[in-house]
Amino acid sequence: KSHFLQNSDNERVKVTVRSRPLTKAEESREDVIPVVFVNPDKSTVTVRRKGSFVDYTEFKFDAVLGASATQADVYAVAAQPIVLDVLEGYNGTIMAYGQTGAGKTYTLADVVINDAIQSRVEGIIPRSAANIFEYASNDKNHEYHISMSYIQIYMETIQDLLNPETTNLQIREAEDGGIFIAGVHEIEVKSLEDVVTLLMLGDCNRQCAFTKLNAHSSRSHAIVIITVEKKTFSLLDSTNSSEGRRISKGILVGKLFLVDLAGSERLKKSGSEGLRAVEAMSVNMSLTALGKCISARADPSITHVPFRDSKLTRLLQESLGGNTKTSLIINIAPCCDHIQETLSSLKFGIRAM
Ligand code: ADP
Ligand code: MG
Repeated sequence: KSHFLQNSDNERVKVTVRSRPLTKAEESREDVIPVVFVNPDKSTVTVRRKGSFVDYTEFKFDAVLGASATQADVYAVAAQPIVLDVLEGYNGTIMAYGQTGAGKTYTLADVVINDAIQSRVEGIIPRSAANIFEYASNDKNHEYHISMSYIQIYMETIQDLLNPETTNLQIREAEDGGIFIAGVHEIEVKSLEDVVTLLMLGDCNRQCAFTKLNAHSSRSHAIVIITVEKKTFSLLDSTNSSEGRRISKGILVGKLFLVDLAGSERLKKSGSEGLRAVEAMSVNMSLTALGKCISARADPSITHVPFRDSKLTRLLQESLGGNTKTSLIINIAPCCDHIQETLSSLKFGIRAM
């Protein structure tokens, strides 16, 4: 009854770099020197060795956004094409990669509750939802059913953030090859407000769980899944019905994965013991697997893609497999303290292209 469409062209991952502004605290320090320079017109990022004008490296991406880029700019460049695909029945993934503090959550999940819709400054998740509901309400030829799940992957276990009683959910494969999370809550959403409410509920459950564990949420991947089911109508033949009733012909299903990845920073060897060390290994393992899977997509000579190496890549398998669009946002912080992490994030982005 439902079926997934396949894009004909095997598109590679689209990589956008977003360099956030200096924070107030960073601005007030005298020893903070900017070492990362973005050139949005040329889509390049230049990283300069501290104090040097000759020692620099230039990286080129699909798009590069600097401190002055708005949330609307980011949405237009890195999200909207994917959301429009999902509305046509394809799967799509938008993910944010980078060290903790680089702006991943701001980019994806920032929510400003404000009655004056014009002055809303919001991240990709609420913007995607608004885009989907607007599109659905303007489409008189289809009936839509839109639902949302919100999960996290922490130390290779999947937790339902909309139903914290359940732990360790399992990924299953349907007969048609579709990947799904068995038993996950999929809650129908009818408006942007519904999505924002569930997002806040999930965040709240996430914080509670981590406070109990004395752990930090930056060690887990947070994933919002918005499923758009679209029923096609056709007018009944007028000889069969004088009322011109509409009947359903089929259902298109598009899934949008919005992924706030765990912080990519490496723990300092000296500081990593016990739980922290295990968490760090788990994050490192899944980000490495992710890197391998998306690099494999860019290189057709690689025949074995290690989707089963981590829960993250297994879950995203259908959306990373090459038939669907994937947008990778590399979030970076522009100041010199973070230069090693910034370089490592930029290199992750380059390998994905
Ligand atoms: P991460 O999720 O990668 O750990 P955050 O999204 O929490 O990082 O961002 C760290 C801080 O920087 C937050 O206070 C956030 O509001 C701020 N910030 C990040 N990106 C921007 C931006 N583009 N404009 C303004 N503030 C930002
Ligand atoms: Mg965050």
